[in-house]
Amino acid sequence: MRPVLVRCNRCGSAAAIDSSKEISDVVKHLYCMCRNVECGHTFVVSMEFSHTLSPSALDLPEDVRERLKGYSRSQQQLLFSSIQS
Ligand SMILES: [Zn+2]
Repeated sequence: MRPVLVRCNRCGSAAAIDSSKEISDVVKHLYCMCRNVECGHTFVVSMEFSHTLSPSALDLPEDVRERLKGYSRSQQQLLFSSIQS
């Protein structure tokens, strides 16, 4: 997974995330510092969960998850595509 890239809204350069603070289960504040030495802008970016694209496997019952471990990734995708249609 690629790291989160935050750009400075003042100069457009990449910014480093120095720290973060969890505001709620779905909102996190990222404390950022612009890497452009001529800018030096420090700022806060709000990151918010939007919506699910594919449900978590953790939402499945434990016994179903255990049985799925024996399936290959392609077998799992085939099984779930047949359920959805
Ligand atoms: Zn900047």
